[in-house]
Amino acid sequence: METRNLIGGTWIDAEDGSTISVHNPATDDELAVVPEHGAAETRQAIDAAWNAQADWAALPAANRSVYLSRLGASMRRDTERLATLMTMEQGKPLAEARGEIAYAISFLEWAAEEGKRVYGDIVPASSADKRILALRQPVGIAAIITPWNFPAAMITRKLGPALACGCTTVIKPAEATPLSAIAIGELACEVGIPAGVVNIVTGDAAAIGETLLDDDRVRKLSFTGSTNVGRLLMKQASKNLLRLSLELGGHAPFIVFDDANLDLVVDAAVACKFRNAGQTCICANRFYVQAGVYDEFNARFAAVISELSVGNGLQEGVHIGPLISDAAVSKVEEHVEDATSLGANVLAGAKRVRIDGLADRFYAPTLLAGMTPDMKLCREETFGPVAPVARFETEAEVIKLANASEYGLAAYFFTRDGARLWRVAEALEYGIIGANDGAPSTAQAPFGGVKHSGFGREGGKYVMDEYTELKYVSWRI
Ligand code: NAP
Repeated sequence: METRNLIGGTWIDAEDGSTISVHNPATDDELAVVPEHGAAETRQAIDAAWNAQADWAALPAANRSVYLSRLGASMRRDTERLATLMTMEQGKPLAEARGEIAYAISFLEWAAEEGKRVYGDIVPASSADKRILALRQPVGIAAIITPWNFPAAMITRKLGPALACGCTTVIKPAEATPLSAIAIGELACEVGIPAGVVNIVTGDAAAIGETLLDDDRVRKLSFTGSTNVGRLLMKQASKNLLRLSLELGGHAPFIVFDDANLDLVVDAAVACKFRNAGQTCICANRFYVQAGVYDEFNARFAAVISELSVGNGLQEGVHIGPLISDAAVSKVEEHVEDATSLGANVLAGAKRVRIDGLADRFYAPTLLAGMTPDMKLCREETFGPVAPVARFETEAEVIKLANASEYGLAAYFFTRDGARLWRVAEALEYGIIGANDGAPSTAQAPFGGVKHSGFGREGGKYVMDEYTELKYVSWRI
């Protein structure tokens, strides 16, 4: 298994030999060391991308599509290996890791097809001797910065469309989960993607980010991560007026109306909240349940939650793996203590789970009734397996509560009333709405947020706009 970085088709260590250790969050075992790159290696990666850019952009879309399809096929062939690697470096249960690899492949496959349909326009002119053409061309080098919670899919969701549109790339994965990124880089080499088209740098985030954003050959930044880092990168990106896609944090309301199908709701709530131990940008953060079903929902939700098994994600049957770091566990504890001190009622969990031979990084799936707006977990991302629930009476009241957030990524609601489906979907100030659906993410749909959750869309035909410039040609004939 390769553990160095891919730059210009070559695998390299850091110039000064420094490394970063990658650990399994479930066991604390060291899995590998990867290079600690900084400004110098990032410049080399930009040089490599720059040298490859013109040829890659000139390649017919159909040829680029073949590379993407091959990359997807290699990932599919290697699903078990990649999923195991992901569980080891990130902690999510193996079944979820397999699911993420399939999800990651779906972005490559979608981009392979959609890249062939990046059309321009011929616009009717206002004089007989003119023609107006609108052409789509690649923006140029795309910098890709990704988080640890989806170590493969957050890369391919950007890499697929960037390559399909004719952009070369420099990828900076999260420090906690570089191995999935490097494994994708290895497969990119195996399928013959030309040197310099895919480059990977791991290491000093601030130095890598500054170098990428300071270099005017880089023309696009696609970032997924926290709102605070997104804000900082947006400031730095102003120097070269970069094209930006910012997929940032979220704080999703999950609304259950009295008339909802509770069987469907409980299943969706469990999947939406506890996938990846609650470390998901679109996972439900706040549950609002209408008075008529409040007690029943809580009882049924608590019963299912209490059956979820917590442990090492490599072990068959485990539903909830470790949190990514000690700091993540402390944050969850802080949120739960704050909520209970302000009157929340513990219906399940609310404690660490200590397992012999494993790291002290497991937290029990938790249900808290009586959430109020002054609680931290009602405002900040908890990023852990904690479901706080509040009771509401009317539709107008819950819309107000749901929209009272600086974030605007995903929101969910459940009802059988057709008119309400329209009203509520339109009234929620979020980029993604799950209407009777707790799992809306899919490659062909536009994924992204509003407000402090960022801007830009990934997925579907929409993402192609993010990696192309629209050029206007006024043609006198
Ligand atoms: P993060 O701390 O913002 O880190 C994200 C990436 O940015 C990592 O690669 C990180 O590198 C890098 N980074 C940190 N500081 C940087 C700097 N000064 N310059 C350049 N890069 C820098 O976020 P995270 O904790 O990894 O991920 C969790 C967050 O991501 C949550 O807020 C979650 O909601 C959000 N998220 C959003 C989406 C979405 O689609 N909207 C999807 C998934 C996650 P290091 O790891 O080396 O520090």
